[in-house]
Amino acid sequence: MKVIVIPGDGIGKEVMEAAMLVLQNLNLPFEYEFFEAGDEALKKYGKALPDETLEACKSSRAILFGAAGETAADVIVKLRQELETFANVRPAKSIKGIKCLYDYVDIVIVRENTECLYKGFEFEFDDVTQAIRIITKKSCERIARFAFELAKREGRKRVTALHKANVMKKTCGLFRDICRTVSRNYPDIEYNEYYIDAACMYLVMDPYRFDVIVTTNMFGDIISDLAAGLVGGLGLSPSANIGEKHAIFEPVHGAAFDIAGKGIANPTAMILTTCMMLRHFGYIEEARAVEKAVEETIAEGKTTPDLGGKLKTMDVAKEVIKKLKKY
Ligand code: ATP
Repeated sequence: MKVIVIPGDGIGKEVMEAAMLVLQNLNLPFEYEFFEAGDEALKKYGKALPDETLEACKSSRAILFGAAGETAADVIVKLRQELETFANVRPAKSIKGIKCLYDYVDIVIVRENTECLYKGFEFEFDDVTQAIRIITKKSCERIARFAFELAKREGRKRVTALHKANVMKKTCGLFRDICRTVSRNYPDIEYNEYYIDAACMYLVMDPYRFDVIVTTNMFGDIISDLAAGLVGGLGLSPSANIGEKHAIFEPVHGAAFDIAGKGIANPTAMILTTCMMLRHFGYIEEARAVEKAVEETIAEGKTTPDLGGKLKTMDVAKEVIKKLKKY
């Protein structure tokens, strides 16, 4: 199977190199093809998402993506829309050995990925700016169904819809109503709702209320960084963008230019992102082995400075590979 690899900008390139090193130590029937996109591609080719890259992505079921800097909207947001990867799955799961507010958090955020304010419909008239929020019945239905199906598949007990239907009566109202309707098809899974602002408070004060969260695009983007903070930060948070024909796997973090070029970016999020890819395509044993190797590496304190360690990005990857050899 062909996998399109786009390292992108900033730490995207560094964490991708580390994750590729781990992947190449597994016996997988993947052929990796590398392409460019992001701020550097814009400078070089005049296009942040060159046609060649887009065409390659359209021809593949799997895309591994690092990060894009200032051009993120023209690259990853565009890719998600072009490839109709309508569900962004962002797990926030505690890893042993990471000091956090809570000992054990295990939440999956399912974020609608193609609509909302991130559609990019923004306008300017003299001193007035305007953004249009698009929420359609079709997208609400498919993301709600996706969240319940994920809960069913993973044996999870509850789906919580987050919205702000008291203020955005039409757009959030539609999302909430459809989540309620879809929930009736899943009597074994508990369904509840919170306003997005209250949910932020509950996530910090009592994250055990949450199991699977389903929400609209921008709320999902924001709340997944909050959830990442509950389990040790962006250096640890993987994600997958799933559609009918394509899937894009990328860490939750961006290009992080403040630490780029220093070799200190935490590669864990990117490595765990490759595990989401392995699971998606049925390589469960391999995914488990890498996840175990990552957990052991962290438990031994062999981490990058964001987690209080002294290791460099590539050293963490090498530690993971050493442990992988045991499985
Ligand atoms: P985006 O909007 O594209 O997600 P951002 O500008 O919000 O990007 P990120 O790049 O996601 O910012 O990261 C925010 C901060 O978190 C960074 O500035 C960096 O300090 C830290 N960070 C992010 N990813 C990592 C990582 N892999 N390792 C260590 N620190 C990280």
